Amino acid sequence: MIRERIEQVRERIEAAALRCGRRPEEITLVAVSKTKPASDILAAYEAGQRHFGENYLQDFLSKNARLANLDGAVFHFIGKLQSNKTTPVAEHFGVIHTVDSQKLARRLDRSPKPLGVFVEVQLATEQTKGGVAPDDAQPLIDYIRSCGQLSLSGLMCIPPWSADPEQTRPYFARLRELAEALGVEGLSMGMSHDFEAAIEEGATHVRVGTAIFGKRQPKP
Ligand SMILES: *Cc1c(COP(=O)(O)O)cnc(C)c1O
Repeated sequence: MIRERIEQVRERIEAAALRCGRRPEEITLVAVSKTKPASDILAAYEAGQRHFGENYLQDFLSKNARLANLDGAVFHFIGKLQSNKTTPVAEHFGVIHTVDSQKLARRLDRSPKPLGVFVEVQLATEQTKGGVAPDDAQPLIDYIRSCGQLSLSGLMCIPPWSADPEQTRPYFARLRELAEALGVEGLSMGMSHDFEAAIEEGATHVRVGTAIFGKRQPKP
């Protein structure tokens, strides 16, 4: 089941890329396994999936023991990052998508191993969500570039939710324009219901959960 869904998502990624003249290999599928059991992650790994996204540190740690020997697997932290959790997050994850302050970057830079980081940008004014204002992205990027253990992977956004991908497409386009203005390459954007629109707007990393692992129970 998971294998078939991954294949379907990969086919859709490829079709979306080819539609807009991009190479499918430019796009990394991050399979979002939050709240799902380790057995689901293992099934996806066996189907060739290597990049996984997790939101909740405790949830991840509860299944981590079963994931220790997955050669080549990369775990992406895509949830809200609290500054008192940066040490365990840096220990267990390879890429952090939700860096939105110098304080977080400074703490992540203490990591003993190198980390990829995306700067999360808040394109709408939703106080409940994280992200730097577009105008504040440049100084944070400059700071991250000065950090020895951090490499800038790109910009990330979570647009206001809408079932209609045409409603989120303008946010994807704005994130791409901002990245171009800042000279940044990577774009982490697009989820199960709108990743094709995100790819058409330039996404390099799509974060897809439900379309691979099925519906989730509410947050643990
Ligand atoms: C849960 C989550 C996703 C995946 O959402 P789906 O709709 O299940 O594909 C992507 N990005 C973030 C930041 C998430 O929290």
